[in-house]
Amino acid sequence: MRIVLLGPPGSGKGTQAIRLAKQLGIPQLSTGDMLRAAVPAGTLIGAKAKEIMERGELVPDQLVVAIVAERILEADAKYGFILDGFPRTIAQAAALDDILRAAGLRLDSVLELDVDEAALLGRILNRAKEATANGHARADDTEAALRVRLEEYRGQTKPLSDYYRERGILKRVDGLQPIDKVASSLLEAIASQARRCARTAASSSP
Ligand code: ADP
Repeated sequence: MRIVLLGPPGSGKGTQAIRLAKQLGIPQLSTGDMLRAAVPAGTLIGAKAKEIMERGELVPDQLVVAIVAERILEADAKYGFILDGFPRTIAQAAALDDILRAAGLRLDSVLELDVDEAALLGRILNRAKEATANGHARADDTEAALRVRLEEYRGQTKPLSDYYRERGILKRVDGLQPIDKVASSLLEAIASQARRCARTAASSSP
C-alpha cells in the first residue's frame, strides 16, 4: 500500500506513521526526519534546510521533492510506504503523482488526522518541555516557530484535503481520540479503502 498521512504539526502524525508502518510491514518515510538527518551530516541540503526549519517555514519544494523521489524508489519501499510530512503543498502533491505515474504506480490511500487547532499549541509545547528534559529538544518546537508551522499548514497543506478528496482517496480520522483508538481507526480506514480498490478492480476486469 502507498499511503500518505496528513495532519497539522502536533496531530500525532509521526507516532501513528511509525505504528502503521510496523503493522503493515512497510517503511515510514518522514521528510522532517530526513531533513533533520541531513543537518548534522553537513550536506548542502542540510545547510539550506537548517535555518528554514528552525523558523518553522517550509523548505523549497524542489529540494524536498528531490529527496522523496530518490527515497520512494529504494528497494524497501517497493511494496509500499507511508509518507509522513510529504506532500505539504499542492506542487509537491503534483510532483508525487508524476513520480509515481512514471514508475507505473499510484497512491492507494490518504489519511488525514483531524485535530482541533486549539489543542495543537498545548500539545507541542508539552512535547517540547519533555524533550528538553530528556536532552533532545527540536529546534522548531518553540512557540514562535510553531505559530509559523501552523500558518504554513493552514495556507499550504490544508488545501491538499480537497485535492485528495476530489480523487476519492481521502479518509479523515479523529486525531483527538486516545493513541490506540486513532491507530485502530486508521487501520480500519485503510482496510475499507483496500476493499473499495478490490471492488473497483473486480468490476473493471473483463
Ligand atoms: P511537524 O511536527 O511540524 O509536522 P516535521 O518533522 O514533519 O514536523 O517537519 C519539520 C520541518 O521540516 C517543517 O516545519 C519544514 O520546515 C520541514 N519539512 C518537512 N517536510 C517538508 C516538506 N514536505 N516540504 C517542506 N518542508 C518540509
